[in-house]
Amino acid sequence: MLTFLASPIRTSFLLALLLSAFSCASAPAPKPEIPAAEPPAQSPPAHASASERLEWWNTRLPGMAAADRSEAQLHMGWLEIELAQFREARLDFYASLGGPLSQEEMALAECGIAFSYFGEKQGGYGISHLDKALPHLDGPRREEAAFLMAWHNGESPTAAPAVFARLKPFLNGVAAAGPIAPSGTQADFGTLARSAWRARSMRANYDPMGNPTRITLHHTAEPMSSTRMSESVAELRRVQAEHMDRGWADIGYHFLIDRAGRVFEGRDIKAQGAHAGNKQLNRNNIGICLLGNFANQLDRGSEYRAQKPSAKQLSALKALLDDLRQAYGIRGNMIYGHAELKQTECPGVLMSSWLNRYQREL
Ligand SMILES: [Zn+2]
Repeated sequence: MLTFLASPIRTSFLLALLLSAFSCASAPAPKPEIPAAEPPAQSPPAHASASERLEWWNTRLPGMAAADRSEAQLHMGWLEIELAQFREARLDFYASLGGPLSQEEMALAECGIAFSYFGEKQGGYGISHLDKALPHLDGPRREEAAFLMAWHNGESPTAAPAVFARLKPFLNGVAAAGPIAPSGTQADFGTLARSAWRARSMRANYDPMGNPTRITLHHTAEPMSSTRMSESVAELRRVQAEHMDRGWADIGYHFLIDRAGRVFEGRDIKAQGAHAGNKQLNRNNIGICLLGNFANQLDRGSEYRAQKPSAKQLSALKALLDDLRQAYGIRGNMIYGHAELKQTECPGVLMSSWLNRYQREL
């Protein structure tokens, strides 16, 4: 550490690192004593932009001693991350790892490699680097790394809004350009907004939906007889929590219909759902879930005897299906009960026969 601090380039590097918005640095090191014989510390001007600072390092790199070069490349890597030059950043981090770095600096380089992959939406490659880095990181960068790790493990970590905003480009799933989506939102179908059931916000790890071409019907498979709004809200929140605890971006279904015939907005229709069984099946597939258990599951207890969907539930479903078919040009034979796509009892025999009737009458 003493030799590290004795070098002016390293000192300036450390200062610059601390100034950087992307500072991965640990707790600030004690202020270095610069021996009088050394030239004054050099670093890019504090007001310089990230690209100016990158240029500053770039021009000095060729004249540097090997040890200083690996420090500089570590720093340049983080500037490149800030500038979304992920491939260049990764090359610089790898180059810096080839030089003499402290354990913490190595962790910063590994952390940077992880960020470069996350920035390219290749989280799978980033995780092992994050794994290596985490035990040796400290300070704000450690918090960020821990957040990313938890996120990519499908947990629901929390972060201050400013931190979340900074990390957003590194959360997998959706390109910066945003989802490609047809026009229209659930509101166009007369649904109750997500705020009506105090939905948690959707995470970014979803695939865009594209134009819906099919619809799949489900039941929650939990007995439900109440028509009270508060009970429905509680049930929706339970289902969402269950789905998000699996690491999903949001509740799996796009629409949910309660016993009173209220239609709730579930997952944003611009996002591919998580309901049919796998990504292939979910593609372009709108998921509608009716609250209640419409299949016999007596192995779970006598209360799991199949109930009937309520008349209001079915008329709301019919209206919704009519609207969706018209809005997206979905053919009547492209509406499925879940059991037609996957080995499951969902949505129960009664729902399947209701759907057959609906399709016959088209
Ligand atoms: Zn289902």
